[in-house]
Amino acid sequence: MTRPDPGSPFRPDLLGGRVALVTGGGTGVGRGIATALARHGADVCLASRDREHLEPAAAEVRALGRVAVVHSMDVREPDAVEGTVTRTVDELGGLDILVNNAAGNFLVRAEELSEGGWKAVVEIVLDGTFRMCRAAYPALAAAGDASIVNITTTYVRTGAPGMAHSGAAKAGVFNLTRTLAAEWGPRGIRSNCVAPGLVEGTEGARRLVESRGMTDRYLEGVPTGRLTTVDDVARAVVFLASPGARQINGAELVVDGGAGVGGTFAPLLAGGEDG
Ligand code: NAP
Repeated sequence: MTRPDPGSPFRPDLLGGRVALVTGGGTGVGRGIATALARHGADVCLASRDREHLEPAAAEVRALGRVAVVHSMDVREPDAVEGTVTRTVDELGGLDILVNNAAGNFLVRAEELSEGGWKAVVEIVLDGTFRMCRAAYPALAAAGDASIVNITTTYVRTGAPGMAHSGAAKAGVFNLTRTLAAEWGPRGIRSNCVAPGLVEGTEGARRLVESRGMTDRYLEGVPTGRLTTVDDVARAVVFLASPGARQINGAELVVDGGAGVGGTFAPLLAGGEDG
């Protein structure tokens, strides 16, 4: 029996009978996504390099009454990617939902970004996502009503100082998602992106903003006045993976409280509304 999420707007059996594979499912946002999928009835394969990250997350999925398998792999290795999909299908009976969440990132000025640093991020984020999608295609097509959700970021469109590598890689993922939506939509596979703003409590948010005392400044540009939570992101993924999103294909669901909406006009009313 799946234990429901009391804060979820969705039925606990929304994803009953579905099998999900979440890359980077052992930490941060990915762990939240994996457990949210399980809370809504899905069995889950959690895949990333470090088994020590994966086992506690898998235990959490099992405690919710769902089946979890873990696969230690690197998305930069094509054979490992193929093996992960094969194992998911063999052990969980198929594959309906693929969430490409694994990523690497660090803040660096473009002129100081080494060849190796650029390559590492692009290989994990863009190449890894493509590889996972290609390997999963036969199983997703066999499922008939399948869903890919790629985790991108809000700076896909704006660019962001210090993130030339991850911004370019995630922009590639956005474009790949749209192409797959067109190519694979007719095969019963929907492809969408979830683009979170800064996610509270994650290593990324700590490193990029909190540790530099920038949280309040960032929040000045967020109309809802708070950071995105892991649950906010996970619920967006549950929705896109569900039959409720059956007609949503090639979309980008931004989950950032409206951060940056209004652009340079945003401060205009800060001093009052007289004119
Ligand atoms: P995180 O905890 O660092 O998650 C990254 C995950 O990717 C880890 O579980 C890591 O597991 C896995 N990973 C890294 N390299 C891998 C590789 N080569 N092969 C397989 N797995 C690999 O970061 P997060 O903050 O939760 O971010 C999750 C996603 O949300 C990312 O796509 C990120 O870009 C996106 N996002 C985050 C924020 C934020 O504020 N945190 C904002 C916007 C978007 P192992 O170390 O075990 O391999």
